[in-house]
Amino acid sequence: MWIGLVCFLIASDNDAVRSQALKLAQETIILDGHIDVPYRLFEKMEDISIRTASGDFDYVRAREGGLNAPFMSIYVPASMEDNGAKAHADLLIDMVEGFAKQWPEKFAIAKSPADVERQFEQGLISLPMGMENGAPIEGDLANLRHFYDRGIRYITLTHSKANHICDSSYDEERIWHGLSPFGKELVVAMNQLGVMIDVAHISDETFEQVMELSKVPVIASHSSCRHFTPGMERNMSDDMIKKLAAKGGVIQINFGSYFIKEESRRAGDTMRKEIMKIREEHPEDEAKALIDAYRAEHAFPRANIQDVMAHIEHVIGLVGEDHVGLGSDFDGVGDTLPDGLRDVSQFPNLIYEMLKNGYSVERIQKICSGNVLRVWRQVEAYSQK
Ligand SMILES: [Zn+2]
Repeated sequence: MWIGLVCFLIASDNDAVRSQALKLAQETIILDGHIDVPYRLFEKMEDISIRTASGDFDYVRAREGGLNAPFMSIYVPASMEDNGAKAHADLLIDMVEGFAKQWPEKFAIAKSPADVERQFEQGLISLPMGMENGAPIEGDLANLRHFYDRGIRYITLTHSKANHICDSSYDEERIWHGLSPFGKELVVAMNQLGVMIDVAHISDETFEQVMELSKVPVIASHSSCRHFTPGMERNMSDDMIKKLAAKGGVIQINFGSYFIKEESRRAGDTMRKEIMKIREEHPEDEAKALIDAYRAEHAFPRANIQDVMAHIEHVIGLVGEDHVGLGSDFDGVGDTLPDGLRDVSQFPNLIYEMLKNGYSVERIQKICSGNVLRVWRQVEAYSQK
């Protein structure tokens, strides 16, 4: 009987924390540093003003999850360097502007922290924009101004390959050993104009040089902790997180299992190599069936929500609660999202974990948006000086 009573008390206690998490998710501004909606819809258009059958984001699920300010990723593939990058970025920005024009009662573009806060009060979902890959700058600072005017508020300097700005963590070839001469000019110009520098995707050498050059804090819009994935340059080492924090910056944790858990990363790497091998060795029509069969036989080991929390805890342990945020990579990491964080409706699950870990409401607000909004304001203020 006593055991029954204890179980009942624990269950009702958990229910209370659950409803507190749901309430907090609605009352707190939740800002996500990186959602690949434009990329997803460029591949396959869907009406995101209603619940969509596929994808990780739509208006209805964002509302359920209490998401208020998803940074729309204006992602430009590395293959577009010197090959239509600027035009492609403009096309994706047109698309995001289109959401706000088509559904003005649901979405609005946000170009400042003040926009995000005002639109939160108005019950609108803000769509700030970040550009993933500096390729569209095309070596001309006038293009930086152009994209600033269109609303781009952060630039991830490169993506999967070195570009005319800097080297990439994913690219073995280190053309510049950090920033190119133009990349150094660009960092200074971004500070002056008020565009946040995103250190996700860049090589360690590039990071070091950015940290020396930038006069204002920077963000990592969707990176996790290398501590859990040793040797993975795409995630940030403890030393880098300390340097980032010393300058006032924020690491926004990527939810993709590949970024979170070593076992998932290894499985992902093996799978990619195997699939590439199949593609090389077989004609396209045969390859597809073989790849499907390979996938069916090799279940991908997903991370779970506690694994994501471990990254948040790790950053707090290293540098305190003022330097961690959220950068899910929803709609950008395919079917590798952790159980409990499968789409934008599930942010309350993460807040539930934070409450269970004893986080104060103030700390939760900082992680959900306060820290990044602070950096954004600092970057704005510096540009206005
Ligand atoms: Zn990315």
